[in-house]
Amino acid sequence: MIKAITGTKDILPEEIYRWRELEKIVIDTFRNYNYREIRTPIFEETKLFARGIGESTDIVSKEMYTFLDRSGTSITLKPEMTASVVRALIEHSLYKKQSLNKFFYISPMFRQERPQAGRLRQFHQFGAEAIGSNSPYLDAEMIIIAYSILKKLGLRNLTVKINSLGIPQSRENYKKILRDYLNKHFNNLSNESKKRFESNILRIFDSKEEQDQKIMANAPLLIEYLDDESLEHFENVKKALLKAQVPFEIDAKLVRGLDYYTHTTFEITSASVGAQSALCGGGRYNGLSKELEGPDLPGVGFAAGIERILLACENEKTLNIEEEKIDLFIVTLEKDLNDFAFNLAYRLRELNVSVELDYLDRSLKAQMREANKLNSRFTLIVGGEEFKNNLLVLKDMSNGQQINVPADDINKLISYIKVK
Ligand code: AMP
Repeated sequence: MIKAITGTKDILPEEIYRWRELEKIVIDTFRNYNYREIRTPIFEETKLFARGIGESTDIVSKEMYTFLDRSGTSITLKPEMTASVVRALIEHSLYKKQSLNKFFYISPMFRQERPQAGRLRQFHQFGAEAIGSNSPYLDAEMIIIAYSILKKLGLRNLTVKINSLGIPQSRENYKKILRDYLNKHFNNLSNESKKRFESNILRIFDSKEEQDQKIMANAPLLIEYLDDESLEHFENVKKALLKAQVPFEIDAKLVRGLDYYTHTTFEITSASVGAQSALCGGGRYNGLSKELEGPDLPGVGFAAGIERILLACENEKTLNIEEEKIDLFIVTLEKDLNDFAFNLAYRLRELNVSVELDYLDRSLKAQMREANKLNSRFTLIVGGEEFKNNLLVLKDMSNGQQINVPADDINKLISYIKVK
């Protein structure tokens, strides 16, 4: 039997209503904050991500789905959205029409990670990018939006962690200090961290190895070496969050994987989803647009994992959305009334009534069972003595009440059904 690829998941019809409800909350919230939706292709040239995310990151060095197409171009399925959004902004010169562009998206992403609970190879993110302003209010706005969506979904066990990586200059100065410290402990670092020492020294903070964590517990922290401008930016972000009543913790070790972060980084975790607890993460990336040969524009954004959020909702028993009911099931008692029933269904459907009928020549009982299974609000019986008298029997499934309606008066029929 052919099965779905490991790390991918079918989203079955019975789950779709929860996805749609989440998407509705996402879309409505972004509308309130004036973000416009953007959709970019599923694949891009590999070099966009290599440059836009950074060669030394886990995503680029280990996790991308990359292949040569028939013309020999290296293609990558998008592992995240920021680089694509910035590419689109530059390609269409959107920054010329508007000095600040605020985008949101909902999209599948692809990363060849080791599949485990909460970690898929095709997963979905919603997120936002605001490009063109260095205002700390926008850093705060990202965190406020993400938190607001998670609250509207009914989630409770949330922790918001924030940190600042400062401007590149203060980060470079700090890296020297960190290097001096780690030089003293180099032999005790794990092999992976020894590699990161050269390629991406800040990422050693992300190591899960006990030997590394022991060393990093006493490491100097970037936040203690921030310059005045970076400190002021960070203070303003915190002030805005306090005013918006978003509870947060400072996590000085939150460096996040991507090379292009400046100033604020943040993550929201949930205590309801096990080891892979990050529901969303983001930060400011002032260097990215220039890195991708666009104008030197500051940007800030975040991405949230939909599967993990839905798992948190399931574990916290929120977002219990029932499958939508249909309005009407037409029960047909005689085979030679199928034409009439099918045509009536067609006319009702075109008038926005959701209708199902029997395609399997089932008995009356089996058709009634089907109507129940579909949770139909009404059933309509076509046939029998009533039909000979040009009448149809309409049954309200919520209370069992039956009335007769003229078979040739569709408006009358609709007037009963449409009263919800
Ligand atoms: P990132 O783009 O790595 O910052 O991830 C942002 C969010 O996307 C994470 O907090 C997760 O909720 C989600 N996410 C990232 N990678 C995966 C994955 N492999 N499977 C499922 N969700 C993921």
